[in-house]
Amino acid sequence: MADPCIFCRILRGELPGQFAYEDDYLVAFRDIHPVAPTHVLVVPREHVESLAHASSAHRELLGRLLEAAAAVASREGLAARGYRVVINTGTDSGSEVAHLHLHVLGGRQLRAMG
Ligand code: 5GP
Ligand code: ZN
Repeated sequence: MADPCIFCRILRGELPGQFAYEDDYLVAFRDIHPVAPTHVLVVPREHVESLAHASSAHRELLGRLLEAAAAVASREGLAARGYRVVINTGTDSGSEVAHLHLHVLGGRQLRAMG
């Protein structure tokens, strides 16, 4: 049976897509439905269901994810004007994909959050 997790399938190279960045711990690729001129997802190779499922064993990984988000933003030319990093968690956030990921958003003035 095919892996039900779309991001695990992308990580294994089963779906077309190009990685904007990758290392031993994580990959970054463009969101299929961008909501900003730059919309990149930073995704750990390990299948962690959400931030709520992360434990102290993931401390280093969580640090690496944030570090990669900043590096991707910088590489995309967002550092000077600024950007937003979002982690949707659980039903109320509207999260669609149950595999931890960070959204890196920028390239336009982002609205206040609410
Ligand atoms: P969430 O709502 O869970 O925080 O974010 C999931 C994101 O994954 C959404 O912004 C959605 O557009 C994106 N997404 C869903 N399926 C795919 C896919 O197959 N490829 C890519 N590149 N992005 C996807
Ligand atoms: Zn997964």
